[in-house]
Amino acid sequence: MDINNTLRLIPSVDNLLKMPQAHGWLRVYRRRLVVRAIGDILDARRGDILQGGTPDISPECILSDVADKLAAITNCQLKPVINATGIVIHTNLGRAPLCADVLNNVVAVSEGYSNLEYDLDAGSRGKRYVHVHQHLLELTTAEDAMVVNNNAAAVFLSLSALAKGKEVIVSRGELVEIGGSFRVPEIMAQSGCILREVGTTNKTHLADYEDALTQDTALILKVHKSNFRVTGFTEEVDVEVLSGLARRRGVGIMYDLGSGCLVDLRPLGVHTEPSVAEIIQKGVGVVTFSGDKLLGGPQSGVIVGETRYVERLRQHPLSRAVRIDKLTLAALEATLIQYLGTPEAAIENIPVLRMLFQPLETIRSRADRLASSLKGMTEAEVEVAGDVSQVGGGALPGLELPTCVLRVRPLSMTVQQLQRRLSRATPPVVGRIKDNHLLLDLRTIKDSEIEYVSNALETQAGLRS
Ligand SMILES: *Cc1c(COP(=O)(O)O)cnc(C)c1O
Repeated sequence: MDINNTLRLIPSVDNLLKMPQAHGWLRVYRRRLVVRAIGDILDARRGDILQGGTPDISPECILSDVADKLAAITNCQLKPVINATGIVIHTNLGRAPLCADVLNNVVAVSEGYSNLEYDLDAGSRGKRYVHVHQHLLELTTAEDAMVVNNNAAAVFLSLSALAKGKEVIVSRGELVEIGGSFRVPEIMAQSGCILREVGTTNKTHLADYEDALTQDTALILKVHKSNFRVTGFTEEVDVEVLSGLARRRGVGIMYDLGSGCLVDLRPLGVHTEPSVAEIIQKGVGVVTFSGDKLLGGPQSGVIVGETRYVERLRQHPLSRAVRIDKLTLAALEATLIQYLGTPEAAIENIPVLRMLFQPLETIRSRADRLASSLKGMTEAEVEVAGDVSQVGGGALPGLELPTCVLRVRPLSMTVQQLQRRLSRATPPVVGRIKDNHLLLDLRTIKDSEIEYVSNALETQAGLRS
């Protein structure tokens, strides 16, 4: 049939709106939404016909597609995903997962009213930071603390409040970029500070800092090299030595720690990530770090240090613009409480730490369980294999974590096609592609998710014929 004639046979929006099913929708959804959903489906049919296709244009079939479309539009787009990448602090997948105790506190605090800024003893206005203040002092040994909505904001606020219009000395080896949109020189410019770079990419000496100090210096800033490592002919000045210099010369010293760890990781073989308490003990005046990296809590920025600095941050007008909200605060407080137990308990209860330090045998037994649940698979070759997972999130760069993966090689599609199908599964599963195999890393897959992964592979991605 002639294309124009076929196009004319497509039912109109008005006629479709008169059908009983559409009446049902109009009682539930706003009219604009229903009209748009119908319009989108009709446009797709038209496009298909113009390409020479012969789609089903019966009202029944169109309405059924509209129903799917309405369901898709009104379902949440932000949804749970199974992280099979093995990257524990995966910024694109939401960084730190939270444990049940933490989530329960978020629900309890936010489903009704709370004492967010109300002092129950005094019966008058209180401060929102008090809920985490004491825990942060306890865990970091700092004199004072406050929290904001992420670490980028913590750095921005600190620089703005402590060094606006003044010079800040930073080693050239630490002028880093984190996650594309956070670059130390740019944050510095936005905060109104004057950047004084010292040293070279690989080496910065104490004398470099000494020579750069002037009447206009407000701060010496140290930035954690979160997402890379410089090896070979390198030198940096120990933070304790820098603190001493700053004190002698009457300037501030600040450390953007990035990840910020609250437990001593040395018993676990990690010697590159000092705890926040150690940094404070070395005399740093202001330390900033993320709540959702190694700390394993909600997105937030923690600032700890001396009262003479932290008080200036609290008083600064920007602190209102970057203030933490109550859901985050509820999650952060409950996360910090997990750290008041023994280090072993914290590692067990905080998902990020648990995933990082779980024994290889535990990961392997999950891999074996997943493999044995896949016995019926005919369209792919699978095997359990050793591999290496990453910490991610700009924490512990270069630390290699031996892990166990399910290596999947599809027989009737490419690995890219397989990953696309898994991304459309419910819930979506995101793995990593390596050497023409899809690797599903069991470090970041929970026990309770194995069933979903196996169903996603066999049924939703069609690997079982
Ligand atoms: C991650 C990171 C930041 C940014 O922290 P967010 O919590 O993502 O805002 C800043 N500085 C360093 C060194 C980092 O590693």
